[in-house]
Amino acid sequence: MNDAATLVQPAQTTEHFDVLIVGAGISGIGGAYHLTHQCPATSFVVLETQDHFGGTWWTHRYPGIRSDSDLHTFGYRFKPWTSAPIATADEIRAYMGEVIEENDLARHIRYHHRILAARWDSGEGVWTIDAVRTDCGEPARFTANFLWMCQGYYRHQEGYTPDWDGMAGYQGRIVHPQTWPQDLDYKGKNVLVIGSGATAATLIPAIAKDCGHVTMLQRSPTYFRIGRNAIELAEELRRLQIDETWIHEIVRRKILKEQDAFTRRTFVEPEKVKQELLGQIRAILGPDYDMTHFTPRYRPWQQRLAYVPDADLFEGIRSGKASVATGEIERFTRTGVLLKTGEALDADIIVTATGFNLCVLGDIAFEIDGKKLNFHDTVTYRGMMFTGIPNMVWVFGYFRASWTLRADLVGDFVCRLLKHMQAKGARKVAVALRREDQDMALLDWIDAGNFNPGYMMRGMHLLPQRGDKPEWQHTQDYWTEKDAFAAIDLDGEEFVYS
Ligand SMILES: Cc1cc2nc3c(=O)[nH]c(=O)nc-3n(C[C@H](O)[C@H](O)[C@H](O)COP(=O)(O)OP(=O)(O)OC[C@H]3O[C@@H](n4cnc5c(N)ncnc54)[C@H](O)[C@@H]3O)c2cc1C
Repeated sequence: MNDAATLVQPAQTTEHFDVLIVGAGISGIGGAYHLTHQCPATSFVVLETQDHFGGTWWTHRYPGIRSDSDLHTFGYRFKPWTSAPIATADEIRAYMGEVIEENDLARHIRYHHRILAARWDSGEGVWTIDAVRTDCGEPARFTANFLWMCQGYYRHQEGYTPDWDGMAGYQGRIVHPQTWPQDLDYKGKNVLVIGSGATAATLIPAIAKDCGHVTMLQRSPTYFRIGRNAIELAEELRRLQIDETWIHEIVRRKILKEQDAFTRRTFVEPEKVKQELLGQIRAILGPDYDMTHFTPRYRPWQQRLAYVPDADLFEGIRSGKASVATGEIERFTRTGVLLKTGEALDADIIVTATGFNLCVLGDIAFEIDGKKLNFHDTVTYRGMMFTGIPNMVWVFGYFRASWTLRADLVGDFVCRLLKHMQAKGARKVAVALRREDQDMALLDWIDAGNFNPGYMMRGMHLLPQRGDKPEWQHTQDYWTEKDAFAAIDLDGEEFVYS
């Protein structure tokens, strides 16, 4: 959080809406769709810092930017995806653009509005939202009965770059994929990409053909999964001229079943899954390739597993245009980096594909009844509401399945909750631990033994706490939550209305 709110002059006018959605990424646009269809009488506005919708798919402009989830599940459940499953950022934005157009959502979105502060007043039963116009610097104030946080989980302005010794003395150019300079000329250049997550796996095949050489430098290996960028069943159904709505639903169910089975296998037989994943890579790189570069220390899915469509990353390595180095950086030199092993890697350009800065509340300064909110003091209700924060729902998707699956589930929940509040005549809803939860153990947001990417581990103190019961945690389990969310008793003891 920041205290920038104090810098803003109050706005001259205040606009009121029933619901205020923060962010016009895939979650916020999904939220706008659900409100329009499930709560048509509800007034709402979507405030977005940037000058365009898309969120992640607008911010990231590095070469090759694409999803690593299939779009049958990363796409909304209500809008068929009709192309190859792995999609570019342009394709995802075009899809979101159609959702906006087809549902007349544009009139609800205000771009260039960075929200700085959100204050809840129990007396008034409203949120007051202070924003600044990023195009003209003017303040803008809104009030809303309900806040729907669709701000994503990382800071969009800049990515995470570790502070290595000697960086200032490096004479080449250092670039983070999140702020990729559009004028960057990498033709014929020697490029070092630090990191081996999904971003590196996407970027490297996209630039390898034009660069002199690309080296992927990783501190430790990542799991990759290789497959065609096509789904046979979808192709077959299209040949049979089945309606795209049906194809979307059928293929979605098939993918979800397969993903669920795969995830379970990573817990039940991790060694077997590991060998299968390594076998896919060995089949491309050959028996003599040093597979320690692709053999992680953790079990599959303990960190995000990067999907490599059509094996393009590995084809790049096989062709000799790309290579992999594994080792820790001792320091930057004038010409590249020096590893702790003593190996020196020289490069004209260094790309730090080193991840995100976790930013869980959109850098918004929250106050509840005059008291500054410390998010870590709260306990989450199913990873979407929080003790002590009334009239607010938050979208935090899945890591092992597509984010949007959860955005849709949360959308149904919010609309049901809003209708329930209206039926009860309630202005306020908050969640609170039940009598049976009073002695519940409170734990970190996520179990590090289950899922532990660096940006989450670095930011655990910023995240709410969870309990040891499914009601009080984000279970990361779509299969359980899709039924559990629909069955939530909104008159249960955990919901306190007034
Ligand atoms: C490169 C990359 C690839 C990814 N690929 C996948 C994938 O294949 N599958 C998957 O499931 N997940 C993927 N993810 C995770 C991805 O971020 C989410 O799946 C999804 O796009 C998040 O959507 P969102 O709308 O919740 O948040 P975001 O896309 O982060 O959008 C949030 C929006 O809120 C706005 N905002 C934030 N704070 C404020 C504020 N204070 N005031 C106003 N506006 C604000 C931001 O400007 C932004 O536009 C990927 C992430 C990255 C970075």
